Amino acid sequence: MKILISNDDGYLAPGLSALAEAMAKIAEILVIAPDSNRSGCSNSLTLDRPLSVTRAANGFYFVNGTPSDCVHIALTGMLDFAPDLVVSGINNGQNMGDDTLYSGTVAAATEGYLFGLPAMAFSQVRSGWSQLECAARIASEMVQRRLDGLSKPFLLNVNIPNLPYEDIAGIKATRLGKRHVSEPVIRATDPHGREIFWIGPTGAERDAGEGTDFHATASRYVSVTPLQIDLTHTAQLGVLSRQFS
Ligand code: MN
Repeated sequence: MKILISNDDGYLAPGLSALAEAMAKIAEILVIAPDSNRSGCSNSLTLDRPLSVTRAANGFYFVNGTPSDCVHIALTGMLDFAPDLVVSGINNGQNMGDDTLYSGTVAAATEGYLFGLPAMAFSQVRSGWSQLECAARIASEMVQRRLDGLSKPFLLNVNIPNLPYEDIAGIKATRLGKRHVSEPVIRATDPHGREIFWIGPTGAERDAGEGTDFHATASRYVSVTPLQIDLTHTAQLGVLSRQFS
């Protein structure tokens, strides 16, 4: 098995090393990741400047671009590596509910999925890199699991509680929860007296009930959500079609 590995926290992130180490025990790996932290960059591609790929001392490749750039470059021929699976992470913090839309971690996996490859994104629920060993072990188990019946390619969003392995209750298949709108923007003043803004924190959980990713991880379960990329609102398409028929 050949596994392409990326993330959005950058090629120096401990979560990436932990994931690469775990995958190297079960597969041939290639790691290609952004040169810096690109968390929250979603599926963006860099189209206004060229990209460079540099090989680090540990064998990881880093790119002056986004997670999607990294996977895109690897899959379109810059790197001579044809993977069977794309994995991303282990992200420093959760990617659940609405967060998945903004996530560069999920985006790296999505890029593989869009190229027809099975893909998995791994995130740890609270940031801080605690319990990385447990998260890497679970990632390895998920990758080795026979996911019979899933149509290929699949795109799985996995969120792992920050707990020792023994304290994980199990794995639950979930749907994405939902959040309230984000907290207000944070205003500040730069050294030149100009007003500046920081994007505020995410909103509180709105739909975190039974069956959601939020609920599973709060109950000490690993959450795995199958994702799809077709954004079409099928119910509204019906209404709209009748109006324009
Ligand atoms: Mn991140």
